Amino acid sequence: MNAKIWLSSPHMGGTEQAFVKEAFDTNWVAPLGPNVNGFEQDLSLFLGEGTHVAALSSGTAGLHLGLVLLGVKAGDEVICQSMTFSASANPIAYVGATPVFVDSEDETWNMSPVLLEKAIKDRMEKGKKPKAIIPVHLYGMPAKMHELMAVANRYDIPVLEDAAEALGSSINGKMCGTFGAIGILSFNGNKIITTSGGGALVSNKSDVVEEARFLSTQARDAAPHYQHSKIGYNYRISNLCAGVGRGQMEVLAKRIEQRRAIYQQYVNRLSGVRGITLLTEPTGYFSNRWLSAILIDPSLAGFSREDLRLEFEKDNIESRPLWKPMHLQPIFSSYAYYGDGTCEKLFENGLCLPSGSNLTQADMDRVFAVIDRMIK
Ligand SMILES: *Cc1c(COP(=O)(O)O)cnc(C)c1O
Repeated sequence: MNAKIWLSSPHMGGTEQAFVKEAFDTNWVAPLGPNVNGFEQDLSLFLGEGTHVAALSSGTAGLHLGLVLLGVKAGDEVICQSMTFSASANPIAYVGATPVFVDSEDETWNMSPVLLEKAIKDRMEKGKKPKAIIPVHLYGMPAKMHELMAVANRYDIPVLEDAAEALGSSINGKMCGTFGAIGILSFNGNKIITTSGGGALVSNKSDVVEEARFLSTQARDAAPHYQHSKIGYNYRISNLCAGVGRGQMEVLAKRIEQRRAIYQQYVNRLSGVRGITLLTEPTGYFSNRWLSAILIDPSLAGFSREDLRLEFEKDNIESRPLWKPMHLQPIFSSYAYYGDGTCEKLFENGLCLPSGSNLTQADMDRVFAVIDRMIK
């Protein structure tokens, strides 16, 4: 059997272990320490002036804290992009709120500003103004943030931006994660950089980030004894994981370049192939190309995305259908949904291809050999 080719696997840069070793040598084996502070500084420098960052145990924790910080409570409604990973929506349930799902538009595969406004109007007519909006930058492609923010601002609803897949993506130079009132990042094992598991909460308001740090370390009031006047969480990142993150930050720019080069190989080989389309960047948009994905129209291509996925599987190559929309998930199917069929079609015809920055040319040759077999 050929060696497994993964969709996206961890890719260390080389200095991560030195940061972790220093943590051991100085006994900072705790959810605080120099690596946590250093990782936060690296991230805020990368995201741009005025960006404050709290490093956390996961992106999911960031979304949960984000909702808490925005004051979302039990019984409230929160609008969420349907086309996403379940971690965007689960924290809505953690706070006892109700999700309202909104479809994507087909230029970025992310939340449609038109359908967002339709959803807000309809929820308000039904008697409840949504308390927050969660757009997602899926596969690294920025959502239409200017248009989405314009709608959100018109109704004065805060945006919690899920940039878990989009570290380094931007619109006209402004980084994903910095558009909304609060943004979140993920450093899970399959993301563009990883701390094995980790995440961050981002805001241009330092007091919001300070409060995130407070809540994420059990909300301990200033007192010699343990005293609490708020519900706390254990969501801070460990100083060991943050050490891995500091090493990864040294190679982030290179990882983005490498992922974009993989995407370009797919463009070079597949553009012009009947029935296969790739997602292009709208003017001013920059995607980190975390995952390269294609759409296959079976009536034109002569094969479906499932045919191709199974063919990859035979050669021990991992590929994956585009994320199944939340409104189609058994756990979320009973909630309100505003759509026009876009993300259902994306799910039906879309496939994520091997995209890791550590793929070798030999790996890519294997991937293309399978695709070539199907195209014939
Ligand atoms: C990975 C991911 C998350 C969750 O991040 P974790 O660090 O794994 O908790 C949230 N949203 C999206 C879109 C993701 O891809």
